[in-house]
Amino acid sequence: MKKMRKVLAVLMILTLLVTVFAGCKKQDDNGKETGTTESTAAETSPILQKDVIVVGTNAEFPPFEYLLDDGVTPDGFDMALIKAIGEKMGKEVKIENMDFDAILAAIGNKVDIAIAGLTVDEERLLQVDFSDTYFTAVQSIIVKENDDTIKSAEDLKGKKIGVQLGTTGDLIATDDIEGATVERYKKAITAVLDLLNGRIDAVLIDSATAKALSAANKGTKVIEGDFEPEHYAIALPKGDTALKDSINKALKEVKEDGTFDELLEKYIESGE
Ligand code: GLN
Repeated sequence: MKKMRKVLAVLMILTLLVTVFAGCKKQDDNGKETGTTESTAAETSPILQKDVIVVGTNAEFPPFEYLLDDGVTPDGFDMALIKAIGEKMGKEVKIENMDFDAILAAIGNKVDIAIAGLTVDEERLLQVDFSDTYFTAVQSIIVKENDDTIKSAEDLKGKKIGVQLGTTGDLIATDDIEGATVERYKKAITAVLDLLNGRIDAVLIDSATAKALSAANKGTKVIEGDFEPEHYAIALPKGDTALKDSINKALKEVKEDGTFDELLEKYIESGE
């Protein structure tokens, strides 16, 4: 009988311990149990163990990324956003400028992650993971100010269209616009200069960038197409869920504390 009581007492203590531990489990913002502490998240993500995160971009895409007049310092909405995200994560951010079409392949070797006005699409998802999205854009058309032949996406048929190499604009011009000749540029600004020189008829590029480039280059105007909306996100190495969770949490915090809206106003809305 005594033995039985002992067993019962041990069982009761065990039950109590289990209950106490269950109560300690971490919860995420939705109140869901994650069971992951920050130290284990860092252990599962090599990038979260580092003090400096190397971020790839292509600083040819105003107002999201461009070089300041010194020709070396990257600035723009994405640059400020990723710094704010880094701060929330307690990390320093180092920007690595490269060609747009080299960015995704650089993740996991030359850079840790990338921010470059990158549209989430099926093809890219085979190569990288994406954070939550942070901006919605749509392709727009830059033409010469005095051009009255191109008034819509329909009118691009059979025209010479300039795009930035490897972008969604490149894909759309190549796959969806009948009879178009596609000229692919490393820098969007070169395409705009070729438009002004008469070498091409139009530039197909994301909306906010089309506005910024047109505003900076007299003699051009922007035509809205009726293309599908595109959503920008930060590109991440495949399968690093601890990193993805941490970036998404920081992005959410940057949105909640008002920083995100301040940056939108400073870099994008003020130029509209
Ligand atoms: N959003 C487009 C894309 O992801 C263009 C990005 C860019 O030129 N930086 O392809």
